[in-house]
Amino acid sequence: MLTRRCVLRLAAGCAVLPAWAARAAEEAPTGRFGIAALKEGYLKRIAAIRAAGKLPIFDIESSYDPGKIDLEDFVREMDRTGVAVMAFSPDMPGRLVKKGETWSHHVFELIRLYPDRFYPTGNGGVHPAWTKNQERFLDDNERYILAHGYPLMGEFEFRHYMSPRQAERNETHRDVDIPIDGAAGERLFAFAETTGIPFQIHYEIEDRLLPPLEAMLARHPKAKVIWCHLAQIRYKERSTLYTPDYLRGLFARFPNLYIDTAFGGPYGIYKPSGQRHARVWTDGGDIRPEWSALIAEQPYRFLAALDIGGDRMDRLDDWVRNLRYFLDRLPEPARRIVAYRAAWKLLFNEEIGV
Ligand SMILES: [Zn+2]
Repeated sequence: MLTRRCVLRLAAGCAVLPAWAARAAEEAPTGRFGIAALKEGYLKRIAAIRAAGKLPIFDIESSYDPGKIDLEDFVREMDRTGVAVMAFSPDMPGRLVKKGETWSHHVFELIRLYPDRFYPTGNGGVHPAWTKNQERFLDDNERYILAHGYPLMGEFEFRHYMSPRQAERNETHRDVDIPIDGAAGERLFAFAETTGIPFQIHYEIEDRLLPPLEAMLARHPKAKVIWCHLAQIRYKERSTLYTPDYLRGLFARFPNLYIDTAFGGPYGIYKPSGQRHARVWTDGGDIRPEWSALIAEQPYRFLAALDIGGDRMDRLDDWVRNLRYFLDRLPEPARRIVAYRAAWKLLFNEEIGV
């Protein structure tokens, strides 16, 4: 049985209890994440949730504001709602960027406190650290991902419309447009390809955006790319090409492409366009048969995701309910695979035993 102290020691490469444990979380820590030890904890937790009769969720994509989260409350909600493990990525808050910081090391705090609930994930490529200076953000990303042995990078926003909540608050800085085939994209894809470490992209679905993405996937076939938000199309008139068949074609060409399943419920409206942006759904609130068929056919390409963010850290319950509504409508065995088995396979390169 792994004690917390043991995990900490392993996380620090079996050095003495690391100094970062007692320090403020924003300071640069030393040591590497001990993934083998953490993995045992995840497995036990997933098995326990299953044994309790609940479908465990391995959330591949969520983020948080390290300065604002109430972790104790948050993990209590995870336990209550059956969320086993989260790839929980810190977003660098603007107030710290103003002080000259560009990277949050708060993940060390997550792992120190709750080693069986969180999967070490790099910072999200979001405003302002990423949008203001991609080169510097990528410098940090490469340096810290390698130095600390992060096994997963965060979500990089290349094309990002304002979310419904951001639109309401008129947060136009969240309207991000960085060419995926530009210098920053090239550097990120190449880094992922060399290291084998997966990364996530936020990339709105528009006809004009598809060729550059395909070109990057073709140029970097070994880069493991998680394209977030399956079939989330905010402006229907900008997207005529993306269909289950289109995605099927991408899967055939690009064996390292994954899709996450964070999207809105059947009746959610994207206010700026007035459209129901989660296109997976029928009008009656079921999964469209053609989407369900693709997921059933290739379930390991689809990863459960909650997309918790800094402005909704207290709403885990709603977001889990939404994800479970979707998962419950998938046929078995796809349901279980998408919920946690696909993430396990991608991250540990093996089938999970539970
Ligand atoms: Zn996103």
